[in-house]
Amino acid sequence: MKSYAIYNKNYEVRKQSSSGGVFYELAREVIGKNGVVFGAKFDDEWNVIHGYTESIETINDFLGSKYVQSSVGNCYKDVKKFLESGKQCLFSGTPCQVAGLKAFLGKKYENLLTIDFICHGVPSRSVWREYVEKIRNGSEIKSINFRDKSIGWMQFSLTVHDKDGEIYTNAFNSDLYMKGFLQDIYLRPSCYNCVFKGTDRKSDITLADYWGVHLDLPEMFDDKGTSFIMVHTKSGQELYKTIEERFVSKEIKQEKPLSHNPAALVSAKLSKKRRVFFESDTINFELLEKLTRQSKFKNILICIFSKGRTKIKKLLGWDEK
Ligand SMILES: Cc1cc2nc3c(=O)[nH]c(=O)nc-3n(C[C@H](O)[C@H](O)[C@H](O)COP(=O)(O)OP(=O)(O)OC[C@H]3O[C@@H](n4cnc5c(N)ncnc54)[C@H](O)[C@@H]3O)c2cc1C
Ligand code: SF4
Repeated sequence: MKSYAIYNKNYEVRKQSSSGGVFYELAREVIGKNGVVFGAKFDDEWNVIHGYTESIETINDFLGSKYVQSSVGNCYKDVKKFLESGKQCLFSGTPCQVAGLKAFLGKKYENLLTIDFICHGVPSRSVWREYVEKIRNGSEIKSINFRDKSIGWMQFSLTVHDKDGEIYTNAFNSDLYMKGFLQDIYLRPSCYNCVFKGTDRKSDITLADYWGVHLDLPEMFDDKGTSFIMVHTKSGQELYKTIEERFVSKEIKQEKPLSHNPAALVSAKLSKKRRVFFESDTINFELLEKLTRQSKFKNILICIFSKGRTKIKKLLGWDEK
């Protein structure tokens, strides 16, 4: 397996991508060979779904991380149909989606390439649904960018536009939804005990942000997005070689980038705040505000006043056998 620190020479591509703009070039290469690319995009209601494209014109829909569990729909069946027709397919998704596809296919296809990423976990769709309604506040949304780099890759923002321009923007560490996501309050249950951690992957290539690149390799850092990628297979290496010249890249050892990216190796910790959050009858953003802002002591007080004593026992872990 080979690992690289890498970023796209084309800044416009990097701007629309979460980190170094690697996915775009892999997709472009496959489409250029008359192939088909599967990935996650928004539907008309701003839910996140898996879909596919055979055209470079629509590849932008798939760029950028969407921090919501995507719905795979019929994609596994569609992948199979294309593979059996002889088309080359590139499937990009979470490590568990890639594993799910391979289990569904049940055999190896030479014309299948898969990409996953270092995965922190995916937030609940219902929380996202409610949050979209909250931030759109009656406006008709035209675009949502979870990784707006206007003030930098490291200080990315969640930004929303309607037809007249920006209606919402907030840095990841101030935006309520992102705080709840990064504090592991509403990941899907399987993400707290993920069996797809580690460097031994089912995919051909693993993509990630190279957090910490400013410390390890300052010459590869300009705060516009640097990726860390791991190429696991011969097919992955062949694909990588075809796009290598479009990047500034450096072959590296994986230890340092992995040390900055805990989600590569360990699952998110199941937070007691999660239980408190989901015990509310509705998605309660006032409660989320308090849970993401306060110290544990203050959370206990919140529960005393808003949730009752049984919840306090749960929060303290006294109810656990
Ligand atoms: C939910 C989630 C958690 C992540 N956690 C980490 C992490 O802990 N550490 C880390 O280094 N990187 C993480 N990433 C990956 C990282 O944000 C970038 O996707 C990666 O660095 C590739 O960047 P890029 O610039 O090459 O391409 P981009 O254009 O950013 O890549 C987009 C690719 O991601 C796929 N994608 C986007 N959203 C979803 C989704 N909801 N479900 C499935 N696939 C999706 C698209 O299909 C496309 O293939 C996460 C991404 C997601 C979606
Ligand atoms: S953390 Fe694991 S279970 Fe959760 S989405 Fe990522 S790969 Fe799947």
